[in-house]
Amino acid sequence: MVIIITGTPGTGKTTYAKQLAAKLGYTYLDLNEFIIQRGLHEGKDPLRDTLIVDEEALLTALLPKIVANPEMIVDGHLSHEIPKENVTKCIVIKCELKELEKRLKARGYSDEKVRENLDAEIFDTSLHEAEEYGHKAEIVWTSEKPSVLDK
Ligand code: ADP
Repeated sequence: MVIIITGTPGTGKTTYAKQLAAKLGYTYLDLNEFIIQRGLHEGKDPLRDTLIVDEEALLTALLPKIVANPEMIVDGHLSHEIPKENVTKCIVIKCELKELEKRLKARGYSDEKVRENLDAEIFDTSLHEAEEYGHKAEIVWTSEKPSVLDK
């Protein structure tokens, strides 16, 4: 089973993915680390402070690894770009906005980067992208789920 864990930065992907990998005895793969180690990016976007990822090269490097070891948890906000044929389960991690803001500020992110990530969470960008890639996403909250009346 290949399980991908996606979501906005700070929602709790890594924490959840590592716990799940330990529980199932699966291999944990940090997709950002993988991208950096293999040089699968064209530097950093200076405005957004994020890696400019060569998505085609990423899939070329990653797919044989997944096929060779199908008991894998892939953690990263780009993991939903893995074709659905290679994925058994897609989990989107979500977090309530005030809590997410706290977590992002605690990371020392700039106001602009905090805003950008909160917007991504508000608009469910990861969930929509995962669905665009054909994944049937399961949502896991790492904070108390907000009431519809709070929205
Ligand atoms: P991501 O991988 O999505 O960027 P992390 O797993 O690094 O997120 O978590 C971001 C922060 O939120 C960390 O400080 C982590 O300890 C905290 N966190 C993650 N999951 C939970 C949770 N279920 N309850 C409380 N805090 C959490």
